[in-house]
Amino acid sequence: MNRLSFDIDPVIEGKARLTDAQALELHEKASLHDLGAWAHAVTQRLHPEPHRTYVIARNINYTNVCTAKCTFCAFRRDHGDTDAYTLDHEQIGAKIRELIAIGGTQVLMQGGMNDRLPIEYYEDLLRYIKTSFPAVHIHAFSPPEFVEFERFFGMDVRDILRRFRAAGLHTVPGGGGEIFAPRVRKRIGIGKCTGDDWLRVMRVAHEEGMSTSCTMLIGHIEFVRDRIEHLAALRDMQDYALGLRREGTEARRHEVENRWPGVFAKSLFVSTGNSQLTTGNYAAYIHWPFQRENTPLGRAKEWDPGIHGPFDDSTNEDILRGRVVRMAGADEYLRVLAVSRLYLDNIPSIQSSWVTMGPKIGQLAMYYGANDMGMVMMEENVVSAAGTSYNLDEREICRLIRDAGWIPAQRDQFYTILRLHIGPDSPDLRPPLVVPVRNVKQIDRQFIGTAPGLDDGGDRAVRIQLPLLGEAQ
Ligand code: SF4
Repeated sequence: MNRLSFDIDPVIEGKARLTDAQALELHEKASLHDLGAWAHAVTQRLHPEPHRTYVIARNINYTNVCTAKCTFCAFRRDHGDTDAYTLDHEQIGAKIRELIAIGGTQVLMQGGMNDRLPIEYYEDLLRYIKTSFPAVHIHAFSPPEFVEFERFFGMDVRDILRRFRAAGLHTVPGGGGEIFAPRVRKRIGIGKCTGDDWLRVMRVAHEEGMSTSCTMLIGHIEFVRDRIEHLAALRDMQDYALGLRREGTEARRHEVENRWPGVFAKSLFVSTGNSQLTTGNYAAYIHWPFQRENTPLGRAKEWDPGIHGPFDDSTNEDILRGRVVRMAGADEYLRVLAVSRLYLDNIPSIQSSWVTMGPKIGQLAMYYGANDMGMVMMEENVVSAAGTSYNLDEREICRLIRDAGWIPAQRDQFYTILRLHIGPDSPDLRPPLVVPVRNVKQIDRQFIGTAPGLDDGGDRAVRIQLPLLGEAQ
């Protein structure tokens, strides 16, 4: 164990808060196993219940036309591209009907940022979903979309949020957070809003009483201190949101306003003085590593310490200018997860990112700070466009949670438990309707190697039954 320059116990017990410098020290010096143990202790303190949760949702990307050109994105298209699309109400309605058929409760709608869609497209769509599927929770439109809406519609985000909310919008997802640091953001999020604007949209959503989530994208051109600064902005803004209508929080709110002036430069808040009104806040945080396939940034050179020297605090021009990427694997993902759990003491839930990390690391994440398995997704288009194709159904998510030692529980967007899966009719305990069968020819060659008789490149494909996670193919 590396000795820390400070006592970690009060942090674990919730009696002290990590400073930015301490978070940096943890990230750089603590062993992964220590970090996991400390973060897990915090998770157990915050979530002592015997279950771990998930939500059944459908990710609907209503358009792939986008004015931004993020270099990590393989999803966006321009107007006129043969595979550019915008979904109409009926197409979206058909997807929601499929979601309801499997017990789903939530749609996550995010798009590209399509400058040819008027505000009526969004309002009509929200009203259509609200009227046709009143039980479905609408979690939609990330901060970068709202910032573009301000430009497209000539309105302030506060007015747009009020109109969308009246039309049916419930909560705002935290997509597009990436890394707030301008040096990084302007290189990877070309045409996308600044970090200040991302935080401003969420500030306004919270002031308007809406719940949101927050995100971070790691493993590209960012330094570790950029990650800590990103977490600091989230924790500060959560303090601001939680203190908004509470007595005795003025000094802390002023501290936050002074530290992040750009977040408060527009969309001013006029307090009504009514302490009965509720404010929103970040209900959950999630981070994931950059996926490189099919993306412009993915063509950048990979960091090689022998050639480029140290990454953080580098004087290497390629690193400073973002021409070299430092990818994050499972260990880095878990390290950042644990530091995030220890640092973000005011954000109640942290989701596992099994979509990018796969089922096993996604499961392990529950021992490194995650208390939630996120969404059982019927559809995922953005990450899969960048080469990641993990897809788990409810049965598999439940099995991962149970095997890790908790009772699986389906929740809604507000983390209210809808179903606690105890009995034999639990999704993972009832007999499967279809026994998983995989065609050997389709199994990753790395997994089976060149085992004679299985797949030696010939045409002797055989069907075998494997005890693997996955749907029948
Ligand atoms: S990540 Fe989102 S905002 Fe960026 S180019 Fe892709 S679709 Fe557009």
